Amino acid sequence: MKKKVAIIGGGIVGASAAYYLSSLPGGNQLSVTLFDDGSGQATKAAAGIISPWLSKRRNQQWYQLAKDGATTLMTLARRANLSTDIYDQTGTIITRTNEKDLHDLYVLAQERHEDAPDMGDVELLTAADVKERIPLLTNPQPGIYVSGGARIDGEALVTNLLKQAERVNLSVKHERVSFDKQGNILSSTGTHKFDNVIIAAGPWLNELLKPLGIKAAVRPQKGQLIELAVPNYESQENMPVLMPEGERDFIPFGNGKLIVGATHDDEAGFNLTATPEATQDLLGSARQFADYLTEDSITRTKVGTRAYTPDFAPFFGRLNNYPKLLVASGLGASGLTTGPLIGRLLAGTLIYGGTPDWSNYEKPLTNYLS
Ligand SMILES: Cc1cc2nc3c(=O)[nH]c(=O)nc-3n(C[C@H](O)[C@H](O)[C@H](O)COP(=O)(O)OP(=O)(O)OC[C@H]3O[C@@H](n4cnc5c(N)ncnc54)[C@H](O)[C@@H]3O)c2cc1C
Repeated sequence: MKKKVAIIGGGIVGASAAYYLSSLPGGNQLSVTLFDDGSGQATKAAAGIISPWLSKRRNQQWYQLAKDGATTLMTLARRANLSTDIYDQTGTIITRTNEKDLHDLYVLAQERHEDAPDMGDVELLTAADVKERIPLLTNPQPGIYVSGGARIDGEALVTNLLKQAERVNLSVKHERVSFDKQGNILSSTGTHKFDNVIIAAGPWLNELLKPLGIKAAVRPQKGQLIELAVPNYESQENMPVLMPEGERDFIPFGNGKLIVGATHDDEAGFNLTATPEATQDLLGSARQFADYLTEDSITRTKVGTRAYTPDFAPFFGRLNNYPKLLVASGLGASGLTTGPLIGRLLAGTLIYGGTPDWSNYEKPLTNYLS
């Protein structure tokens, strides 16, 4: 009989795990059911950037995970035959106003390149060079171009991965589920026993683990972004992503679509209402770089809930007291970068067994679960 596996959560972790469970050797011996109610999903709200190499975060394990995550995505894009609407290596430009900061970042880029060839080419650009690569800008600043950087449409990615897995061994149920005290899944159709469960529920992890007596150090953070129409630039599909100082990024998606995001609201909990204040704030940031944008340029607003841990790092692995359950959460603001690798690691350990040592990627699970 086929081994029965469930996945709770169809964001980037759950969808990547499902994809690898359907495509890694041995995966076809499994029958996989994914439960997802989709509400608040960070992945669907995120139109993101993959460019971890110049991050100044000191957490070495996070850097290793994000760097290998970016490489995993490059391989996944080829393997899953993803179109450039979903994933495109357009490169990223990181700008700085202060000359010394720019120089320091360039030195860091060259150092990091030695251990991360997938960064691709690194170039120091003047403001005029930046304008040439991103003609949308009216107020360009000098920056560093990294050719390995990419942009990614989170919603389109998970939709594509789930569709591919459904052709092999996956069945998707669009509903909210919970656990009983024994770790069985309770759904609208009753109680279900699975041989293994991957819990990829983002910030809703605490609620799910409550019946098992486990508390997760994960909190929700609201994130909002805006989509704008820039019709004058319809034909320029391959512009790099712009990452200026601060938290606001500028993502040209081609076909006249521009995305600017995102906000980081720690007070709003699981609230999914787009606020006019956040929209104005994002528009203000966008106008610093392209002063012709107006409220009328906004075509869509998206909101999602990120999951954060106290040390801002993700965690994943097998639960000590419930070894048939595997968990991943806390991907924060870089989950599109780290999620596919986490999904692949979890799928691999489920197919091939064993307790792998992931200490180069993360701290012990007991740091996050009690
Ligand atoms: C606005 C915004 C912009 C972002 N930009 C970037 C970026 O540029 N680069 C980057 O790398 N990252 C970015 N991120 C972060 C990234 O999107 C997240 O870290 C990542 O998507 C989290 O993936 P996940 O699979 O862990 O969780 P999610 O995508 O949140 O998925 C969890 C899923 O589980 C479901 N679920 C939960 N509980 C249950 C239950 N009991 N039953 C059924 N289903 C359940 C939820 O409904 C949800 O669909 C951004 C996030 C936001 C919000």
